[in-house]
Amino acid sequence: MHALVWFDRFLVEHLGRHPGAELPAPDSERGRALYDAWRLMLADVAGVDYDAATAASLRLLVEPASKAKHFAKLVEYVEAEIKQRPSAPRATNGLSRGEAEHESRSCERCDGSGYVQVWHVDPGSRYNTGNYAVSAHCLCVLGRWLRAHAAPEHVRHIPDLADVVRGVGPWREYDPAKLEITDPRTKPF
Ligand SMILES: [Zn+2]
Repeated sequence: MHALVWFDRFLVEHLGRHPGAELPAPDSERGRALYDAWRLMLADVAGVDYDAATAASLRLLVEPASKAKHFAKLVEYVEAEIKQRPSAPRATNGLSRGEAEHESRSCERCDGSGYVQVWHVDPGSRYNTGNYAVSAHCLCVLGRWLRAHAAPEHVRHIPDLADVVRGVGPWREYDPAKLEITDPRTKPF
């Protein structure tokens, strides 16, 4: 069974957001049975993760459902959220890590590692001091696989190259500190 390590945290946050839904407390008898079922059914949604579930929970605030349809709508919104992601991990569904590595073995971005170095847009950022850069998940199948299978608390700290190439977020594919040195206005000679 899919562990959904983030589920308990998500549930607490979700209940806090939706007092009007009159959902049972997680530690009540009704609650335990209900949320065990939620967990099982959410685990069946391909590509589900904390971010998708949270986006769906937030969407329920502005596009609410009746009490009877609360969970059905939540799942519908989770699926919609995953579908519209540019880096949807759907392509990796059912692949083993070995198969994903095989698929990406000749990826030119990451040399088959699944990770690509990226730099913070601000050369003065603590992320760039000492030529420090971070690894982003590559766009290829292995990169997608690694992202889909990483723990949510790790994914939050690992940039997604799909965002980087679109210019979303503070990470870039080049080192801005190096660019600055070659800029004629800042050249020291
Ligand atoms: Zn790659």
